[in-house]
Amino acid sequence: MATHNAPTSESVARIERLVHIYTGRSGTTTHPDHGITKAVVQGLAHNLDKLGRPLCPCRFYPNAAEEVKHRTWICPCDDMQIYKYCHCLLFVNGEGEPVTEYLPENHPGRSAYGLVKDPAPDQGRPLRAKAAERERERQQRHS
Ligand code: SF4
Repeated sequence: MATHNAPTSESVARIERLVHIYTGRSGTTTHPDHGITKAVVQGLAHNLDKLGRPLCPCRFYPNAAEEVKHRTWICPCDDMQIYKYCHCLLFVNGEGEPVTEYLPENHPGRSAYGLVKDPAPDQGRPLRAKAAERERERQQRHS
């Protein structure tokens, strides 16, 4: 993650609320290493201040202002809402691993973490029907 100025306390509070709500909805938890959670929250809050949207802070964007016009990487991003996969490790299982079981088999998340089962299969993934569309976008827009 890039280093940057501290985000406003309002934005940090908004992101903390988002994390609280979305862990509950998705049946995930935050990372046992609180430093990881804090760094991601700060990055999201910084992007909220700068771009007006909580753009995922764990990726490089050639043009972040352009990227926010897509929904793909606005937290909780499409990968989280489709596959329950959070590559920032903000939303993970009790061991601090991201869920990978729904990812396409050639996805980098699978090679990085292997097969990580969903601890709460009945929760989350509200956009699961968009998996084919998301995979096309990942190939074509490299996002
Ligand atoms: Fe949010 Fe997705 Fe980034 Fe995780 S990977 S912090 S869900 S935008």
